[in-house]
Amino acid sequence: MIEIDVPGTGEKLTLEHLVLDFNGTLAVDGRIKPGVADLLRQLAERLQVHIVTAGTFGGVEEEVAGIPCVLKVLQGADQTGQKARYVEKLGAGRTACVGNGRNDRAMLEKARLGILVIQEEGAAAESLRAADVVCGDIESALLLLLRPLRLTATLRT
Ligand SMILES: [Mg+2]
Repeated sequence: MIEIDVPGTGEKLTLEHLVLDFNGTLAVDGRIKPGVADLLRQLAERLQVHIVTAGTFGGVEEEVAGIPCVLKVLQGADQTGQKARYVEKLGAGRTACVGNGRNDRAMLEKARLGILVIQEEGAAAESLRAADVVCGDIESALLLLLRPLRLTATLRT
């Protein structure tokens, strides 16, 4: 669990789950980005990590093999809704999400903390509007959770 106070708002974030999109978020061209697995292993000591993906490039299982996480490969239509329902089932109020695509919009909106990353694939503008925080890259996003004072500085009013 990670607890984060947000000064000026009276808010306290109590996070138990971290839900991440794969392509464009953890991976580029289907391959996990350097350094990301290590950061996720550190976060997995405090949060339950979930990777939710359409598996567009295939081979997701091999890529995440060394990461302690729940891997959810989505099938069929309405992946926006499937991702959002996955977060609701975990308890959106104690979940942080990280994503970049249009189909991440609803989960970013519902989650207690929604982080959008831009990186090589870019990010969907409507998902950007649904997020609480926007990061240039996944390393910065994961470090917000590992070093929550950074997040406090961004969210305080
Ligand atoms: Mg994506």
